[in-house]
Amino acid sequence: MNVFCLNNRLALVTGSSAGIGEALAHGLCEAGAHVVINGRRTDAIARVVAELQAAGHTAHAMAFDVTDPAAVKSAIDRIEADIGPIEILINNAGIQRRQTLEAFEEETWRELMSTNLDSAFYVAKRVANHMIPRRRGSIINICSVQSELGRPSIAPYAASKGGLKMLTKGMAIDWGPHGIRVNGLGPGYFATELNKALVADETFSQWLCDRTPLGRWGEVGELTGAAVFLASDASSFVTGHVLYVDGGVTARL
Ligand code: NAP
Repeated sequence: MNVFCLNNRLALVTGSSAGIGEALAHGLCEAGAHVVINGRRTDAIARVVAELQAAGHTAHAMAFDVTDPAAVKSAIDRIEADIGPIEILINNAGIQRRQTLEAFEEETWRELMSTNLDSAFYVAKRVANHMIPRRRGSIINICSVQSELGRPSIAPYAASKGGLKMLTKGMAIDWGPHGIRVNGLGPGYFATELNKALVADETFSQWLCDRTPLGRWGEVGELTGAAVFLASDASSFVTGHVLYVDGGVTARL
């Protein structure tokens, strides 16, 4: 199983101070990677770093706001100078804002696009500028089943994740000749802070379980196998692909 081994490879996971990003950081560490934990709240980052270190892993903290291109550039340059070369990037930071489209505020639209889509461009562009001379790297963009499917009251989120899917393909095309692979990972429904309104809604939960071939919500640990696969040499000829980990939701009308 050596092709899945990530021994000593440095991974930056944006938005890894909670939820899916935190689980992905744990999964990469289990496969041998060193990780940089990111978010805006330094206390939440410190908790995750301490937990990983207590488990014997190598974890570093780097707080920055992924929507601020100057902060992104300076943080990535500091990681490269002080911690080491980034070999794996997971663009995971994201938010959800629910409202019918006719009532959706312009500033909320901008906040959502900036966090879910602009950020992936800012972070990946800076990381790619370091990866290109090394001719090596794997970038994973956290998409969603909403990269393919809509639902009432989340059109802007679906637009951001649909855009991220196409940005993934564009990055794969432009950076493939430089030895960099870029793929998407598309989670179905997982119980995190981002989805807490849905988790609390029994009608939605029942609808979701009926709609999902595997009949349940996902658990965040179930995303790590796919992330390790896409980050590692096990997927050395896979690029521009979006891998859905969704209990079968995208297979069904
Ligand atoms: P979550 O529990 O709310 O965690 C979001 C993480 O992103 C936190 O660490 C948060 O830290 C960070 N973050 C948010 N805005 C940021 C910013 N501007 N700069 C830096 N970090 C920021 O969300 P989640 O459910 O784990 O979702 C993670 C990703 O998976 C998102 O892209 C989401 O769209 C996607 N996804 C989730 C599901 C699901 O079922 N949960 C399904 C499909 C896709 P701070 O608040 O400290 O900044």
